[in-house]
Amino acid sequence: SLCRTPDAVQSFLEGLYQSCRELRGGKVADYIPELAKVDPNLFGICLVTADGQVFEVGDTAHLFTIQSISKVFVQGLALEDHGRDYVLARVGVEPTGDAFNAIILDEASKRPYNPMVNAGAIATTSLIAGDGPTERLNRLLNMFRRYVGHDIVVDVATYVSERATGDRNRAMAYLMRHFKMVDWDIEEALDLYFQQCSVMVSCRDLAVMAATLANQGVNPMTGDRAVEAGYVRDMLSVMYTCGMYNFAGEWAYRVGLPAKSGVCGGIIAVVPDQLGIAVFSPPLDGRGNSVRGVRVCEAISQEFGLHLFDSS
Ligand code: GLN
Repeated sequence: SLCRTPDAVQSFLEGLYQSCRELRGGKVADYIPELAKVDPNLFGICLVTADGQVFEVGDTAHLFTIQSISKVFVQGLALEDHGRDYVLARVGVEPTGDAFNAIILDEASKRPYNPMVNAGAIATTSLIAGDGPTERLNRLLNMFRRYVGHDIVVDVATYVSERATGDRNRAMAYLMRHFKMVDWDIEEALDLYFQQCSVMVSCRDLAVMAATLANQGVNPMTGDRAVEAGYVRDMLSVMYTCGMYNFAGEWAYRVGLPAKSGVCGGIIAVVPDQLGIAVFSPPLDGRGNSVRGVRVCEAISQEFGLHLFDSS
């Protein structure tokens, strides 16, 4: 589907890996002590096609916390739990142009702008159905398991670190509670959010998750459905307009693919019906996006003509 032989795809990725290794810019996220411990030299690129072919180079098996990339998948679960109209009444779908951690709600509706920034993600997490914190966490973890195709765990050290330093997220959550936009106990909602950010994945896992979205919600490695097909459109639309925070517009212009980044240094991008892309490289630019990750995705999009509005 990439119009190349598998060997040609693999050698392109290896060349790209070598050239992007030279990029030394960016800074590892350190606002959460546990994140600051990551080795900045780790670097992996993985492509998984919608029919399950895998191409990988570098540190694609190294485990790290998923961080904001979780927001896409939790949005999918909230949609399954409540439907489109209800979720839209609680969380908007407008890009903010502000940083991912901005404490801001829409003036008129009191909704957070979109599910891809922290305020919106906390609201989305508060929509996950379940009888009590344990059941909600289990439903969330099982959802991630369907996307990766194997067991996953929460990194307790990161979760505790997030919770101990999460006052900014707490401020957003309390603001939403003030406007009666969150149903259950706010600390429980935050706890689930901190846990979802601390789910451990590899670059290869992320590529399989992205490929599952490319494959209309069915994991191409296991054949299991991870999310209702009808909601993939919702998830990809919001990724396209909001997934790269306040770089979303330039990303759409240059790369032209729905994508999501996280402060772990991961980025996923989806080519509908074709391909999932994942890159892992911890040093971030000023907006919280992986420096090498942005460059790698741009190069892959160019090389294979993947921009959604390329004419070919
Ligand atoms: N755990 C992070 C936070 O809410 C997630 C942020 C991110 O990846 N952009 O602070």
